[in-house]
Amino acid sequence: MEYFKGMIIQKTVRERFENAFTNDRLAHAYLFYGPEGSGKEATALAVAKVVNCQHPGRKPCNECLSCEKISQIQHPDVKFVIPEGKTWTTKDLQKKYKQKVENPYSGIVYTGPTSISIDRIRLLKDEAKFAPYEGQKKVYILTEVDQMSRPSANSFLKLLEEPPENLMIIMITNSLDKLLDTIRSRCQLVYFPAFTSEEAFAILRLYKNQDAEGDKTARIAQGNLKKIFELSEQGPDEKRHVVYDYLKAAASGNALTLQEVVDLIHKERDKKFLLDVLNLLTLWFKDTIHLVSVGDEAPIINVDFEDEIHRFAKSYAPSDFDQIVSEIENAIAAVGNNVYAPIILTVLAIQIKKHLKRLKG
Ligand SMILES: [Zn+2]
Repeated sequence: MEYFKGMIIQKTVRERFENAFTNDRLAHAYLFYGPEGSGKEATALAVAKVVNCQHPGRKPCNECLSCEKISQIQHPDVKFVIPEGKTWTTKDLQKKYKQKVENPYSGIVYTGPTSISIDRIRLLKDEAKFAPYEGQKKVYILTEVDQMSRPSANSFLKLLEEPPENLMIIMITNSLDKLLDTIRSRCQLVYFPAFTSEEAFAILRLYKNQDAEGDKTARIAQGNLKKIFELSEQGPDEKRHVVYDYLKAAASGNALTLQEVVDLIHKERDKKFLLDVLNLLTLWFKDTIHLVSVGDEAPIINVDFEDEIHRFAKSYAPSDFDQIVSEIENAIAAVGNNVYAPIILTVLAIQIKKHLKRLKG
């Protein structure tokens, strides 16, 4: 039997499941964890397909009725549970699923507070009592499980403690440390390392038909597929120019120039835009730190600004770059706490200026 043909899955994860399938030793409950954009949800769907695929020699075949229904997230025995907002309509929910159906590697974007409600968990528990309708096994995939409320988690725990014979549970999180120990200890943990840029680029090509531009995107997003697909949809170039302008303004200490860039970013009035800018700014400093420690030959991620980063690395003392990265992290946290964007950006600029020490000569 051939498993996961044509799929790009991390070697350790692939081998683990190939062994489990071959020896018929699947666990009742798995917990997939690892960095954002490492293909955990796509792999979970693929595992659900293998379990239920009707093809005699190749699983998943992606052709049989069962595979097709799982691809469409419409298999009656395979549930894909995402956190929901209180005000979401059925249509909102369908939109999120549609994104996943079109490209299982793209990340669902959640805006506003969301959670996996206790009602949803109760429904799953009720359904778990019945045998599969048409598949071999029921598979419950629950993603972003760190967003389960305490009561939801406790209620779900009962199912994990005494899982019915025909049920397999796959829980997914980017933040393992946010889960209850009692949940963790009842699952087999499966770690998903970040994709290499080559792997990420290969997946990007499968779903986007990208060429050289895609390679650049893959490097910029550091193998994070969620980011890669976001960036490939909007083109990151404009944002990187904004980041460069902001950094120049911050370093110069010129209040007027800074005001202009801050206004430009704030004009978007979009939390995501602001977060992207801050994430790219982090990348800039990480590139610089990398360059300083490895030397001129170091591969850097911000390929468009290679020359500028080289100049930057030579102009400033690197001693406080780590400090700046942690200031940017504070700024990202402030965005999460809904602090007014111009204040975040102005305070951060002052901190950057404070920590940048120009080298003489
Ligand atoms: Zn199939």
